[in-house]
Amino acid sequence: MGRSEANLSDITHWIGGGRVGGAAGRTSEVFNPATGEVTGLVRLGDASTVDAAVQAAKTAFPAWAETPALRRARVMFRFKELLEKNHDALARLITREHGKVFDDAKGEVVRGLEVVEFATGIPHLLKGEYSEQISTGIDQFSLRQPLGVCAGITPFNFPCMVPMWMFPIAIACGNSFVLKPSERDPSPSLLIAELLKQAGLPDGVFNVVQGDKAAVDAILAHPDIAAVSFVGSTPIAEYIHNEGGRRGKRVQALGGAKNHMVVMPDADLDQAVDALIGSAYGSAGERCMAISVAVAVGRIADELVERLAPRVRQLKIGDGLDEASEMGPLVTAAHWTKVKGYVDHGELEGARLLVDGRGLKVPGRESGFFLGGCLFDHVQPGMRIYDEEIFGPVLSVVRVPDFAAAVDLVNRHEYGNGVALFTADGNTAREFVRRIRVGMVGVNVPIPVPMAFYSFGGWKRSLFGDTHAYGAEGVRFYTRYKAVMQRWPGSIAKGAEFVMPTAK
Ligand code: NAD
Repeated sequence: MGRSEANLSDITHWIGGGRVGGAAGRTSEVFNPATGEVTGLVRLGDASTVDAAVQAAKTAFPAWAETPALRRARVMFRFKELLEKNHDALARLITREHGKVFDDAKGEVVRGLEVVEFATGIPHLLKGEYSEQISTGIDQFSLRQPLGVCAGITPFNFPCMVPMWMFPIAIACGNSFVLKPSERDPSPSLLIAELLKQAGLPDGVFNVVQGDKAAVDAILAHPDIAAVSFVGSTPIAEYIHNEGGRRGKRVQALGGAKNHMVVMPDADLDQAVDALIGSAYGSAGERCMAISVAVAVGRIADELVERLAPRVRQLKIGDGLDEASEMGPLVTAAHWTKVKGYVDHGELEGARLLVDGRGLKVPGRESGFFLGGCLFDHVQPGMRIYDEEIFGPVLSVVRVPDFAAAVDLVNRHEYGNGVALFTADGNTAREFVRRIRVGMVGVNVPIPVPMAFYSFGGWKRSLFGDTHAYGAEGVRFYTRYKAVMQRWPGSIAKGAEFVMPTAK
């Protein structure tokens, strides 16, 4: 791992409309995972950094909340155009710090941009209800109003898309926002901040505090933060939910996953194998919607495994900026060690390792954090490689006798983020959709990430809180509901009323 101090980028905070370095404090190294080199140092904010960002957001909030929704939407329209112009630049930053292949990074930007498109419709989305004459001379209506300063804490695996699940809707609803991105790939957040400024967003409405646990704890403790959106691993999601809730904040905390793909004997096997290869090994398995378990039902298991193994061996693995690469490296050396540890453990637990990617070296990129695709057969519940989220290019095949056993297996897992079923039978699909206890379901679709005008979220220990992310659920999360009843002097009944009012 090389490190040339002079060329390291200084990755700062963004507070009140500009970059803020602050006094020399703690920093963390940022790597190019394909080369293993340190490319930058990210500042790690503390309670005073968080407070500075919250004060900027608090100051900006009243005027922004008063700005008509249509004008807030126009900022989102301009931001969308700027995202389109800077699409490649953002994707390059993602690939350099995350490692995923460039086309996949471009796809991530598009999926974030779609939430911005959704947020441009905010005047329509904020429309309330109205009932005239709920009693003689009295009308009733409802409003949705912004909360104040909202915070977002995001994971490394989608440094552009996941923040964009949050702030476009929060801001369009009239809130101000403090983003705490992952310290492992923090640079896209600063380009996003610059584009929002260019789009005409007033200073202080969007702020970035770089950092780790210290910044997160300062966000949870800050009395002026009204709501926290979190996406990351389950233990931290649960912690954020409990700590934020205890302090009276509104919290949505999306956690980890173990996504199954059930392959029925009547499935189109070519399609199922393609789907498994793309969804298990795309982005090196570092997706919360990656398929990490293939559930082979009945007689299909042998053929499925026979077809999968050569495809895993043939994966083109290399630098994400090399157009030929299908899969890039893992995000850090520490994560590489963790994922490899799971593979080691899987062998000890008795699963059959059909493809072993541990020895992979990419020519010219020998210091990169590359792990080849790994494929296990005969995996069972109770094995750590089945029970826990690995978050790497490791696919486990579990064999079950029939459909009922497949449904039971999925439903018993502690996670319930995404799931897929491959079948040619409509009734099987219908039963699956109805019975499965998972938040996002694909029928012959391996990664069913909802579009921006639906909402994203898992069940069980994949989500803590009541609302899913973005879409109509996002609008609900970032606004407070108010019910209003009104009448005017001409219709006011005479005299005090001492009984519970009812329709008259
Ligand atoms: P992570 O939980 O380690 O980190 C997420 C965020 O929490 C980061 O901003 C990090 O700085 C902060 N953090 C880390 N440790 C903390 C601590 N002890 N106290 C307070 N804050 C802390 O997750 P990650 O490794 O960056 O991302 C991968 C995880 O995110 C996987 O588990 C994946 O399934 C999950 N994920 C879930 C979704 C979803 O929608 N459900 C989407 C993407 C990623």
